[in-house]
Order: sequence, then structure tokens, then C-alpha cells
Amino acid sequence: MVRSRCPSCEHGEFEAVPVTTQSGQKFCLIQCVSCGTVVGAVDDVKITNVIKNAEKRFSKLFENLNRKVVGVCGRKNR
Ligand SMILES: [Zn+2]
Repeated sequence: MVRSRCPSCEHGEFEAVPVTTQSGQKFCLIQCVSCGTVVGAVDDVKITNVIKNAEKRFSKLFENLNRKVVGVCGRKNR
């Protein structure tokens, strides 16, 4: 995997800094931890959606796992 590098100092670590504009819009700035150069911005709403989608995926995964376990136990009992 190729690591992203800061265009200013070539440092390879970045941090997300939550920012709220005067109009109340929330987003995260992605900036270099070494020199603070902003390399990108992410919509805060999008981050929340990504987390929600991941939660949905996990709960479905667990549902499927439970079904499989129940199925195996059912067969053993017969
Ligand atoms: Zn930098």
C-alpha cells in the first residue's frame, strides 16, 4: 500500500480536525500532523453515514452468523 505524503514536508501522517463554519456546517479538515498543511476536507455528514452503513453491515453479518449457529445446533439435536 502506498502511503500518502504531505505535499509540503513529505510527512506521512495526517489528522482529521473537526471544523464548524459560521453557518453551522460541520466538516473535517485532513491536515499534516507535522506542519499542519491541509490536504483535504471531509463532510462530517458523510463520515456519520459511513459509520451508520458499517453498523448496518455488521448487524446483518451477525444475523447471518446467528442463523448458521442455530442451524447447526438444530441438526445436532435431531
Ligand atoms: Zn507536512
